[in-house]
Amino acid sequence: MSVKVVVNGYGTIGKRVADAAALQLDMEVVGVAKTRPNFEARMALEKGYPLYVLAGREPDFEAAGMEVSGTVEDMLEIGDVVVDCTPNKIAAPNKALYDAAGIKAMWQGGEDHELAGISFNAHSNYDDALGCDYARVVSCNTTGLSRVISTLDKAFGVRKVRATLCRRSADPPDVKKGPINAIVPELKMPSHHGPDVKTVLPEIDIDTVAIKVPTTLMHLHIVNMDLKDACTSEDVLEALDENSRIRLIGEGMASTAEVMELARDMDRPRSDMWENCIWEESVNVSDCELYLFQAIHQESDVILENIDCIRAMTETESDAMRSITKTNDAMEL
Ligand code: NAD
Repeated sequence: MSVKVVVNGYGTIGKRVADAAALQLDMEVVGVAKTRPNFEARMALEKGYPLYVLAGREPDFEAAGMEVSGTVEDMLEIGDVVVDCTPNKIAAPNKALYDAAGIKAMWQGGEDHELAGISFNAHSNYDDALGCDYARVVSCNTTGLSRVISTLDKAFGVRKVRATLCRRSADPPDVKKGPINAIVPELKMPSHHGPDVKTVLPEIDIDTVAIKVPTTLMHLHIVNMDLKDACTSEDVLEALDENSRIRLIGEGMASTAEVMELARDMDRPRSDMWENCIWEESVNVSDCELYLFQAIHQESDVILENIDCIRAMTETESDAMRSITKTNDAMEL
């Protein structure tokens, strides 16, 4: 029996979650919700996703020649789990709608941990979400950090993490955000990202600082860790290589632009790079102190985690590694 997934908010994250869920053998997408009858709504229909809209907006869609299957409330009645991918400020109040419909609900990293009570990353804490009614898939940056930290914590133990996050300023289709010609330091120190990692890995000692840079392609993390066990750079590379969602890169790739070019060359849907991309050459250990650079594709790394979170919450798979393998296989990762 497949899990009936509905997606509320069909933007950058929502459309990717819908496509990823549709590829899974144990899931089906029974509805996506749009606010406006734009090109994305048209594409959703062309992909065969039943379209649901905010109550009262049906005439706008009908005038645009788009078939509407019902309201958001109707959609919630037919799903087993709703993946909320609406923007901040909209997502949290939606909880009342989900409770009224009695549907399991997932949110994204823009929301506070307290909204769901469980913050999720498949490699770090899959079991915490088993059978739960609410969960939050942590942000792109927190996902990227959690993957690498949990992998190295299991292999060598992590005493302390310090990370500098060079954050992309906007997503490629976002014409309203910036900067386009400045670097913006986040003056709150440490930045909120460290505490966010602790919602997934509470025992990890981590401090982060962040700057925003004028790019739309990817984030770049400069990660420094004190490891507990003595190890070499080669040992660390070997441990990282075992994680299917970490890709070691090199071979002339000198920037995030070339990492995105690789995704295009791989014919990935939407040129997505779901894995953390760690420059092999940047992995350096000296006296238990590790440095590395990783590039994180903000639009797509969380998509795999959303799929695993659906499996955990609906208990269609009780084992983290089996879910990760199912997700990866369906996505041809
Ligand atoms: P987005 O703006 O690209 O998409 C949001 C969509 O929700 C839009 O299509 C919008 O029309 C729709 N929407 C707005 N109000 C709605 C409502 N009342 N009902 C239904 N739909 C509504 O946003 P996004 O980038 O996909 O972000 C969604 C969430 O994912 C946020 O919490 C964000 O922090 C998180 N996130 C974003 C990224 C990223 O890089 N874009 C990465 C990881 C997590």
